[in-house]
Amino acid sequence: EWLQVERFNVVAVLRELAGVLGTTFQREIRVHAPNPNVHMLGDKDKIRQLVQILIDNALKYSKEPVDVRVRLDRNLVKLEVTDYGMGIAESEIPFLFERFYRVDEARHRSTGGSGLGLSIAKKIVDVHGGHVEVFSKIGVGTTIVIQFPRNLHLT
Ligand code: ATP
Repeated sequence: EWLQVERFNVVAVLRELAGVLGTTFQREIRVHAPNPNVHMLGDKDKIRQLVQILIDNALKYSKEPVDVRVRLDRNLVKLEVTDYGMGIAESEIPFLFERFYRVDEARHRSTGGSGLGLSIAKKIVDVHGGHVEVFSKIGVGTTIVIQFPRNLHLT
């Protein structure tokens, strides 16, 4: 797989993306970044695509504002996308990142989607040597937590 690796400010990428998606979908996407400069080494376009997949889902499966958080923790870049929507049952979480997997097809017929988004997201995390975790509660909401080494460890 080809990666276009560069050093970039993740906060700037997230703020721009949140602005575009917020305007496009007329929804509130709040970016929380205590430090406005969080640089990392990686494929900027792929990281943007990854966060777009997470925000798209957060918007699709909730009606409330979405919170995006980014911070540096030692040498890890931590990204979180939180929604206050329908949530995901604990039993479904292990399958979310499989291709074409969708929770309860009937329930989601109106939202559309292929079930590919999160499998692509996971590949992007993996190729950056990162790690992803899902915290969710039915009827309360979902937080997806991603961490990357700020200096790329190629896999
Ligand atoms: P697309 O490929 O267009 O993103 P999708 O949303 O169905 O379609 P994934 O992004 O892979 O596919 O997500 C898989 C499934 O996980 C979804 O169908 C949905 O059931 C569930 N899911 C993902 N994100 C959330 C979320 N934030 N809240 C509730 N359910 C979610």
